[in-house]
Amino acid sequence: MQNNSIVPGSVLAVVAHPDDMEFTCGGTLAKWAEAGAAVHVVLATSGDKGTKDRDASPHAVADVREEEQRRAAALLGVRDVTFLRHRDGEIEVTMAFRNQISSLIRTFEPDALVTHDPWRAYQIHPDHRAIGTVAVDAIVAARDHLYVPEQLAAGLEPHHTSHVFLFSTDAPDHIEDVSDFMDKKLAALECHKSQLGHLPNWQARVVQWAELTGERIGARYGEAFKHIELL
Ligand SMILES: [Zn+2]
Repeated sequence: MQNNSIVPGSVLAVVAHPDDMEFTCGGTLAKWAEAGAAVHVVLATSGDKGTKDRDASPHAVADVREEEQRRAAALLGVRDVTFLRHRDGEIEVTMAFRNQISSLIRTFEPDALVTHDPWRAYQIHPDHRAIGTVAVDAIVAARDHLYVPEQLAAGLEPHHTSHVFLFSTDAPDHIEDVSDFMDKKLAALECHKSQLGHLPNWQARVVQWAELTGERIGARYGEAFKHIELL
């Protein structure tokens, strides 16, 4: 189990929905941002199906959730948030989507890419499976110049991403000590009122999970990842 702190100079987090980032890696991103990393977050969807209100339109839900996400990201020190506005629940692994993420990698030039582990067993949410696959596939497409040559023609140079951190993983081998960043993580989650307002005791569950994860490296709170280093 690694707990040696890697502080990337720039980070690209690619997630499916508003609040995914806060739950899974919010403490880590806040920690890296405070250490000076440029943290960019890309959301595939704006969570437009995330409501139980029969009268709420998907557009109205997306507006609320984007605003919640912007405020949460600001609290964590995230530099910018990009909403790709694919339809919630309908993300597919396509070449067009892979190329879209590749162009973002070539634009933001991250040292580390953070995303959902696409190899997690029995992950039933189709978006969580698809986004992880697309983001990982895009790393190779962004790196080699013969992929998506029209991006090069448009001025985007190939980019080698050195580190991949996969969250929600069955095979964690890197735990980031986020003991000093749990307050920020909880405050960022608190921004997602449309999702968490009706869930009892969500704070206690988030804290308990972070405690169990942190225990593995002797820290008060932790967040777990599968770390892949690309030479
Ligand atoms: Zn999600």
